[in-house]
Amino acid sequence: MPNLRIPEKSIKEVAKNFYRVILPMPSRLEQVNVIVFAHEDGVTLFDTGFNLKDSFLMLEDSLKAIGRSVCDVDHVFITHYHADHCGMAGRIKEKSGAVIHMSEAGRQILQRIENEELLDDERRRFYLEQGIGEEKVDVMASVIQRFRRAIFPFEVDEYLNCDRKYSIGGTSFEVLPTPGHSRDHVCFFFRKEGILLSGDHVLQAITPNLAPDIFCPGFRSLRSFLDSLSVIREIPIAMILPAHGAPFSNLRDRVDEMIKHHEDRKNRILRSAEKFSRTAFEISVDIFGEDLSDFDLFLALNETYVHLVELVHEGIISKSWNGKWILYNVR
Ligand SMILES: [Zn+2]
Repeated sequence: MPNLRIPEKSIKEVAKNFYRVILPMPSRLEQVNVIVFAHEDGVTLFDTGFNLKDSFLMLEDSLKAIGRSVCDVDHVFITHYHADHCGMAGRIKEKSGAVIHMSEAGRQILQRIENEELLDDERRRFYLEQGIGEEKVDVMASVIQRFRRAIFPFEVDEYLNCDRKYSIGGTSFEVLPTPGHSRDHVCFFFRKEGILLSGDHVLQAITPNLAPDIFCPGFRSLRSFLDSLSVIREIPIAMILPAHGAPFSNLRDRVDEMIKHHEDRKNRILRSAEKFSRTAFEISVDIFGEDLSDFDLFLALNETYVHLVELVHEGIISKSWNGKWILYNVR
């Protein structure tokens, strides 16, 4: 595990009663935010951070710095099933009895990934067909397993409801479905305050990675992501509190940049596929190179794949099967 860079000041008020707690995580992103809403009756958390010993202590210390404690947490709302977002929910609930809210889709995904063998078999077949070698698939499977084990087991108490208004501490928020980065992703929108808790949907410095959903082959990550971006683009937002990085405010510009980024990437992938009939992995190496960590190689393949899915949908690219791999050809 790499050395974790623990930020010095890990809690900061970013808007009235809203605090950003920065917690460590063992990956390139290094940090994840937990958004704390402190109100008269208790403390509500939006996402929880990765389940590391240090994270839990840091969360406790951070809450103490504002005169609260993990025991005061009344509700935990989760944006999506990734370990850096829901990893500590179970631990927090154990300590405080907090009610955990997550989407039904997120709960279903977690249930499926608990069945490790099924996951590994299906994932293995899927990736081998995309042209990546057996050895790299093994490395990828072990990384995924490590992330999965970093989730403290928990039961969801209430499924998120996108049709209702949630009231806490004298204010209210809505749940906006924003599938893309993951199928279950949601954002939390405090309309009166103009604050969007964007999870991984919109980040300022990086574009969130997109991946196929192995158990839901009909799910088009890129299409869903772009549609979700268009929806939130029109919402009146004063401040975005993302799950990674600092708060920011220029939502429309950022959304437009991200849409343009994917448009450019799709064109690059198309140009690569034009050269000759190739696997998704060959196209991915052509674009992102091969001199990447095993995990980045896998992220690059995912990114390439989700763009190819859209090019196939648009009828620009066709797929063929050579008995071992899926090949992509420009029509
Ligand atoms: Zn995520």
